[in-house]
Amino acid sequence: MSNMIGHQQAWARVTRAVAAGQISHAYLFTGPEFIGKTTLALELTKLLLCERPDVAADAPCGVCAACRKVAHGNHPDLMLVAPEEGKRLLGVEIVREFVVRLANLAPSAGSWRVFILPDVERMTPQTVNALLKTLEEPPASVVLLLTSAEPENLLPTLLSRCQVIPLQPLTPHEIAVALEESWHASPAEARELAALANGRLGWAVRALEKPELREERAHHIEQIVTLAAAPRDVRLKAAAGFSSDGDTARRVLDVWTLWWRDVTLAACGASHLTSTGTARREAERQGQALGCPRAEAFLRKLIEAQAALDANANPRLTLEVLMLDLPRLGH
Ligand SMILES: [Zn+2]
Repeated sequence: MSNMIGHQQAWARVTRAVAAGQISHAYLFTGPEFIGKTTLALELTKLLLCERPDVAADAPCGVCAACRKVAHGNHPDLMLVAPEEGKRLLGVEIVREFVVRLANLAPSAGSWRVFILPDVERMTPQTVNALLKTLEEPPASVVLLLTSAEPENLLPTLLSRCQVIPLQPLTPHEIAVALEESWHASPAEARELAALANGRLGWAVRALEKPELREERAHHIEQIVTLAAAPRDVRLKAAAGFSSDGDTARRVLDVWTLWWRDVTLAACGASHLTSTGTARREAERQGQALGCPRAEAFLRKLIEAQAALDANANPRLTLEVLMLDLPRLGH
């Protein structure tokens, strides 16, 4: 049995290719944050490297040494390539060192060398260029598994070299059952989180394990809503508070950017928002009041501010400028 929860269509697509010996050299799994893209990539890696795969069920055994090493992230033929701790962007040196160079070496144990690159929208143009060479002429034993929550922001040259597999949200029922059976949540907790998760099991699991994350997120959203109605001096004072160090500033910006995506989606008439409850109602209210171009313009400012922090800009200055750009809106 495969450990995959949900995503039957996507799983069927990749396992059919494996069974037919027609695995592609590059897949791009798309879908919102925490929907299960990296989990699917890891499960596929297990299937490729498993010593005793269940051929009839198209599933890795889950217990052999190879499967366990993949689960623990220490299989010699699996490389999970993510930005350095505290950085949002994946630097070109990391891709050169851990993808381009290693891709040319033969696998050390199984018959594949697998590279998982989560969130490929977080690459500098140089990083994408370095990666394209490997994507264009991948060595026979190489499989690249990319994920992205924002495929619309990827270069066409990157997209065209991958098989794109969109992941669909799980149903609240699937999430509730998984939380109870695999994460031992109480039925009440499972139901509540499943309703909030918007089809993203990973989000529900994180929220189950760290209730403080839910509170922190709600708090930061409340802050930006209050600040939208506040005068300049209050905003500038708040900016100083959020920017005591780069990490705090980044955490606040992460919450704001995700939530402002919802404001922008609501402003532009889309209905698939990630927020729920009060946060969602407030996103819809702000979105409708601002309209699509203004909401989108501030989303761009938020993304620029994140990039600036990655490039070691002064957190306080960055947040101050952002606070002055925040569209003014009464309660
Ligand atoms: Zn196995």
